[in-house]
Amino acid sequence: MLTIPTLKSKPINLSYDIPISRTKQFWDGLKEGKVLATKCKKCGTLNFPPAADCPNCYSSDIEWIPLSSEGEIETFTHVIVKPQSFQEYEPYTIVIVKLKDNVRVLAWLTDTLIENIKVGMKVKLQVKKSQEGVLTYEFTPI
Ligand SMILES: [Zn+2]
Repeated sequence: MLTIPTLKSKPINLSYDIPISRTKQFWDGLKEGKVLATKCKKCGTLNFPPAADCPNCYSSDIEWIPLSSEGEIETFTHVIVKPQSFQEYEPYTIVIVKLKDNVRVLAWLTDTLIENIKVGMKVKLQVKKSQEGVLTYEFTPI
């Protein structure tokens, strides 16, 4: 094995402006308490996270529709060793949920204990303000 001399860098803290002009309706929807997806008017594909261009047929003719709020957990993980930007959070749980309208959503699951979480558990999607004051969405048990 080749070893080369290295020096440890200081931690990198990046922050930048993310362009949202083509997905602004999603962020406006959160302000109204709605989690919006895009539906392709050409082929009918429902996309979440929203896609300004349909990944199925590449059409840009889309409409914005609210996601159904209920679904079932397909898988989950409990995060103890957190990425740098989540260091100030307590350990948290991330779930992948299949909603009633057949879309999968990855988000945090809150308001339950890790030992109560099960695949197939029914959960509800809702808008929430993060501890930094940013609007986001998460699941809670039904
Ligand atoms: Zn399409």
